[in-house]
Amino acid sequence: MTKDADVIIAGAGPAGSMAAYELARQGISVLILEKSQFPRYKVCGSGLTHKILREIPYDVSPVFETQIHTFVFSSGFKEVFARTSAEPLIYCTMREKLDAFMLQKALAAGARVQFGEKVLEVQQDAASASVITRSGIFRSALVIGADGASSAVARSAGLREHMMPGLAWEAEVKADPDTVKTFSKTVFLDWGAFPGGYGWVFPKADHFSIGVGGPASLSKWMMPYYHNFLNYLDVASGMRMIETSSLKSWPIPVRIKKSRFHHGRVLVTGDAGGLTDPLTGEGIYYAIRSGKLAAASCAEYLQSGIPSLQSYSHAVNDELMNELGEANRIKFIFNTAPLKIHRFVRENDRAWRAFGKVIRGERWYADVKMGFGKWKFLWRIACQLSHWISDIREKRFSVKGFK
Ligand SMILES: Cc1cc2nc3c(=O)[nH]c(=O)nc-3n(C[C@H](O)[C@H](O)[C@H](O)COP(=O)(O)OP(=O)(O)OC[C@H]3O[C@@H](n4cnc5c(N)ncnc54)[C@H](O)[C@@H]3O)c2cc1C
Repeated sequence: MTKDADVIIAGAGPAGSMAAYELARQGISVLILEKSQFPRYKVCGSGLTHKILREIPYDVSPVFETQIHTFVFSSGFKEVFARTSAEPLIYCTMREKLDAFMLQKALAAGARVQFGEKVLEVQQDAASASVITRSGIFRSALVIGADGASSAVARSAGLREHMMPGLAWEAEVKADPDTVKTFSKTVFLDWGAFPGGYGWVFPKADHFSIGVGGPASLSKWMMPYYHNFLNYLDVASGMRMIETSSLKSWPIPVRIKKSRFHHGRVLVTGDAGGLTDPLTGEGIYYAIRSGKLAAASCAEYLQSGIPSLQSYSHAVNDELMNELGEANRIKFIFNTAPLKIHRFVRENDRAWRAFGKVIRGERWYADVKMGFGKWKFLWRIACQLSHWISDIREKRFSVKGFK
């Protein structure tokens, strides 16, 4: 049976394009099946941290729109304070730009793409994998699921276990030019208003991406929170909004336990694998890391004849899930005492510097536990207790909301 490619990749987001680039560079034939036409809009704050940029093996600065130096923190729109860094902390873009740029790099390296191909299902047998789309069947030795939060590949391959559903709402909001200029280097972050959720403003070249997100179980409270957030931005910060796109919601899948990320000839990356930060919702870094790990395992399978993608599941669990597990524990601690932690960051310059280091990828969530040395077990106990308290607070909030 003829194959359409050695590896078929479903989806041309950061995970898919990164995997395609790495495989094509090694002379492996790659076909990307993407349901949309590019460039396409994707709901996302599109904040690029230094740790993301370090992982991308080419320069993506042509797509930067703004550089962030200042964070304005608030807790439920109160106790507002700002911190500024001389060095840029984050670069903001729009995903239609970043994703088209990364796809072009993959195509230049030798990958192929077919737009308008929505993957419906993947089947596999001893000889090959078959990817079924609306227009036909494509065959390959291996399949990478990089088809995002509602991944058809992950569903077909039974790779959606231990997923916790998160949800975010975001709109692209136009403001008067003075407001855009004044806040072009500033991110607003309101946290602690409801368990596990927060609101953000990311400035772009001519507008702001404004959103809120948190556990999907609290979704009914997110819309009122979003409107209160806009009101706070208008009244407290004097941001003059003049036009807003419709508010769009999007799932943020979070894998909460180490598990399998491959099945036979199929593996899942990025949002398709639930590889997002449970504390911040950040996912581009994990999409790129898992895309690279997927490419390495596929190349090993094809070139050295190791007939298993097991190395991929091991690598994701060791290199990414350990860190994401720590992020989840820190989230529980934060949910237990959000106002105290907000004040701690305000009063304590070391806390702000540590925050900056985590954003830059100079420190990791796992370092928090390591900081306890031989008292690590106390950290574990605190995390377990805060997990219970956090669950109770979340359940109570889902009923009572902001009352
Ligand atoms: C509101 C919001 C704000 C966010 N802000 C940030 C942020 O500031 N920084 C950050 O790091 N992360 C952020 N994230 C998370 C980030 O958007 C994702 O983690 C990231 O896009 C994952 O990349 P991916 O390549 O796995 O999937 P995606 O970017 O979702 O790409 C999947 C691709 O697959 C295609 N596709 C989908 N289904 C199919 C199918 N069946 N067949 C073929 N193609 C298909 C899609 O069209 C898309 O091109 C945010 C998420 C949300 C919802």
